[in-house]
Amino acid sequence: MKRLFALFLSMAFAVGLSAQLPVYVWQGWTDHTSEASLERDFALLRQRGVEGVCFNAGFNLDRIRLAARAAKAAGLVYHAWVPCMLQGGLPREWYAVNRLGQSAADVQAYVPYYTCLDPHNKQVQEWFVAKFDSVAQIADVDYVQLDYIRYADVILARGLWKKYGLVMREEYPVADYCYCDDCVADFKAQSGIDIRQAKDPSRVKQWAQFRCNVVTHLVGRIADVVHARGKLVSADVFPGPQSHAVWMVRQEWNKWKVDALFPMNYNDFYLKPAKWVGKVTREEVRAVDGKVPIYSGLFISKHWRVKEYIKDPEGHGLSPDELRTAVKAARKAGARGLCLFSAASMTEDHWKALEEANR
Ligand SMILES: [Zn+2]
Repeated sequence: MKRLFALFLSMAFAVGLSAQLPVYVWQGWTDHTSEASLERDFALLRQRGVEGVCFNAGFNLDRIRLAARAAKAAGLVYHAWVPCMLQGGLPREWYAVNRLGQSAADVQAYVPYYTCLDPHNKQVQEWFVAKFDSVAQIADVDYVQLDYIRYADVILARGLWKKYGLVMREEYPVADYCYCDDCVADFKAQSGIDIRQAKDPSRVKQWAQFRCNVVTHLVGRIADVVHARGKLVSADVFPGPQSHAVWMVRQEWNKWKVDALFPMNYNDFYLKPAKWVGKVTREEVRAVDGKVPIYSGLFISKHWRVKEYIKDPEGHGLSPDELRTAVKAARKAGARGLCLFSAASMTEDHWKALEEANR
């Protein structure tokens, strides 16, 4: 019977159909969150057929414990979603230094919360390893989910240029990290190149690769400690990786030791139509050779009826019709799941469209 079912599945794939995809949502702790609100929200999500929740409670262990327990009680898989590199209040020398010699502790690119750490700093790495080790020890946590596990956007997504008043024909020195003494010295020891003397550091391929390797190494260290606790690791990444993630934020994520990938295939950020989700998902599935499940991340617009009046592209996203297109495209491209940003943006029309496109 099992064999027959497997045969049916392989035939289904052969003719371009794919099974119904598991659906995940991103949701975070807010001022209104309580045990009761979590129980209510998670029960409702489960009723909608959602399989798991990626929940941001930062490194607050009490909140993670509470949310993870509520998720498990509702029958949901729990990913402890943590934005990594943007941290405040840590030792000064842990922050990355940009090409102009400014520490992210003092000067930030784009927005004040871009206080990014230096992923090459040994103490920063130890700090993350210890933090994620404690998250992984929470019984109801299934996965730790690494977000902002990257350098700052050295080039912003096309759709965001206007918002920040930028035209980015080259790498942006204010957001180009890290030029601290240690990074410069270690790169010189490896390559023989003094990057501070380079006429245009953005043209030095080894320098870009060095920083991709730094992020890959940090992910590996975190994954080792989480796996040792018997838990899994997922990561929220830029699309690609070659088409976007590698050169925008130094995420060569096809080389990462993770168990699931959630590329943020947010078409509106790149001024692309919904069907682009299919193209980029196909690249992602191929990049990992089908070995790591790709959950295609979709950006939902709560205010889709008035989308044309919203100037900020971060207020855009998929309408129910576009969601239908994106879901079908992601399925066809070989995604193993979907993840919606965010649960709170999903209107009744979106849920209906999702159900129709994903059966
Ligand atoms: Zn550094």
